[in-house]
Amino acid sequence: MGADEFLMYTEEERDFREYVKQFCLEEIVPHEDKIIKENIYSKEILYKIGQAGLMSVHHPKELGIGKYAGKGLVYETIVAEEVSAVVAGLDMARMASATLYGKPVSRFGTNFQKDKYLKPVIRGEKIGALGITEPNVGSDVAGMETHAEPKDDGFLLNGHKKYITNGSQANFLCVFAITDSEVHSKQGMSAFIIENTMPGFSVVKDLDLMGMNGARVSELIFENIFVPKENVLGNIGDGFAICMDELDSERVAIAAEALGYARPALEKAIGHSQTRVQFGKPIRLFEGVNFKIADMATDFEAARLLTLNSARRYDKGLSISKEAAMAKIFATKMAVDVCDSAIQILGGRGYEKENKLERYYRDAKLMEIGGGTSEILRYLVQREIFKEAKSKK
Ligand SMILES: Cc1cc2nc3c(=O)[nH]c(=O)nc-3n(C[C@H](O)[C@H](O)[C@H](O)COP(=O)(O)OP(=O)(O)OC[C@H]3O[C@@H](n4cnc5c(N)ncnc54)[C@H](O)[C@@H]3O)c2cc1C
Repeated sequence: MGADEFLMYTEEERDFREYVKQFCLEEIVPHEDKIIKENIYSKEILYKIGQAGLMSVHHPKELGIGKYAGKGLVYETIVAEEVSAVVAGLDMARMASATLYGKPVSRFGTNFQKDKYLKPVIRGEKIGALGITEPNVGSDVAGMETHAEPKDDGFLLNGHKKYITNGSQANFLCVFAITDSEVHSKQGMSAFIIENTMPGFSVVKDLDLMGMNGARVSELIFENIFVPKENVLGNIGDGFAICMDELDSERVAIAAEALGYARPALEKAIGHSQTRVQFGKPIRLFEGVNFKIADMATDFEAARLLTLNSARRYDKGLSISKEAAMAKIFATKMAVDVCDSAIQILGGRGYEKENKLERYYRDAKLMEIGGGTSEILRYLVQREIFKEAKSKK
């Protein structure tokens, strides 16, 4: 940790980071190669992460585990950064459970839902997933095709979801569906908690991805799944608002994950540029190299500040739609660029798998897409800017 981070984080937050780093060293680093090679995490490792309290930090204290339970989103950004710095795909699985699935249930669930469907997930005993995206529906969430019709004391859910992180592994899923096609989706969408054991739930396949080894991202079919009415999250018609609320916290956590991919790449570039000698001197003495490092470090620092700012605002109950979008746009681009520059600085060695930079680069690219593409987020940022400008007139 650099001297400036001393000013950015409280003493308790810095202690927590050390605790997470130690956990990663003992429980994740020894399994890194296996997770990458076999392209699947073990459920046992998610259980250990949950039992160590690393999925509880931004959920009600009484449901979670450990002395850091209930601390807030800043703590979740610390976990996301540290786990991603070891195995990005594993953090994607952890975060899909703890944040993508966990936050909507935590913020909008009834006591029954939190007890039955959140507690075991954030303790690592069960796995969660979030189902928004469909084969025909990506950025345009309002165009959702999955639908649910009232039936007896519940709903019949039908639809097709794609790109669902943890989809084939999850015990519980928070799924969005249209419940009233006569009105705009902002009023006609609802959120449901379903179980993978409910008749009509099926996994089409796990997708073959460019990166994020270890994560499972799936295509799912829902065919006449009966969802009891006590599994409706929030009120009928609240789905779009719940979805947008979830995306704000997800975007901050993704920005923190991006810090996690960029950090080891930056460290490797700094290290290599000091030891690699060409033309009789360390390559760090060439401006073509050291100016790159200056830019990488500057962007990394700026990404950390944007991420931390949006997490602190969230923890104070302030709106973060604009700030979270800015943090994700900047941090994910920073991670792709830092990995690219690091590969360049290591030269041929950067292209070898052994140095892991190509892996960080492939992992980083996802985050300019998932959780809202950088283009959609720019649309959102400008919209908020002009809304603010109008309100000042
Ligand atoms: C590995 C992985 C994991 C994922 N995990 C989950 C998950 O757990 N749960 C879940 O629900 N979803 C998940 N997603 C889905 C992800 O959120 C979507 O891929 C993303 O929102 C983009 O949707 P799309 O892929 O359909 O792209 P599209 O929406 O088809 O966009 C294609 C391109 O067009 C651009 N574009 C679209 N509309 C506009 C516009 N109005 N203005 C400018 N440009 C535009 C986009 O920016 C993009 O460049 C995951 C995706 C991946 C790849």
